[in-house]
Amino acid sequence: MLMSMLALSIKVLQTVKTLLFPYTCPLCAKPLDETAGCCATCLQSIHTIPHHTCQSCGVPLHPSLAPGPCGQCLKKPLPQQQTHHLYLYKTVVRHAILTWKLQGQDAGLNFLLQAAAPKLKHIFSENDLLLPVPMPLYRMRRSGLHHSADLCLKISSIVGCQTDTTLLRRTGNHTRQSALQGKARHTNLRQAFMLHSPSFHHLCPLKNKGKIWVIDDILTTGATLRHACGVVARLKQPVFAFSFARAWHDR
Ligand SMILES: [Zn+2]
Ligand SMILES: [Zn+2]
Repeated sequence: MLMSMLALSIKVLQTVKTLLFPYTCPLCAKPLDETAGCCATCLQSIHTIPHHTCQSCGVPLHPSLAPGPCGQCLKKPLPQQQTHHLYLYKTVVRHAILTWKLQGQDAGLNFLLQAAAPKLKHIFSENDLLLPVPMPLYRMRRSGLHHSADLCLKISSIVGCQTDTTLLRRTGNHTRQSALQGKARHTNLRQAFMLHSPSFHHLCPLKNKGKIWVIDDILTTGATLRHACGVVARLKQPVFAFSFARAWHDR
């Protein structure tokens, strides 16, 4: 009798909780009957990066191609050893990133990171060091946020590795990319990053143990990540690159 009354009270409490605070899809905010996961429509429109990619730049390759660097990387090798991505930058993934970056709401991003937790634990190890690609100062001042640093801290909390937000920095003489064209954009990016020398000491315990990663939220052309990795490669240690999402159009 007592047990059935207790079970009834728990059921009533759960119903009240659902009515007052309904669980919503973390990607589209649609109310859901479940108490975890996302709605079926959002689940269908999440595109993960295909398994078959170029080892160096992470670009998706046709399954018929042998594993290894793509033609572009053979022609112009990258400073990073490998590049990894989680999702394609489209549909609900794009929406989750924009909601996080423009409105400061990270429920969608957190959901996508938690969904990728096994893959993140496979890519990163506890001994790794994550370096966020520093944002231009004018953009940080405008938004009050450093998105790639925020992303690094979220990954660190899942994997258990370290993040250093001081080693890789922007130089003061960087001009806005949008104000430049063609070759001037590359020259501008080449001068955009520097290493903050006192932070070199942070790396000593990591030698021969973990990997150094340069982390960005979205990869479009890959130029920013390439130039940032080029600067970190001056530490004479292998550098690895990671972006949460990659812009990619099926060919
Ligand atoms: Zn949804
Ligand atoms: Zn490649």
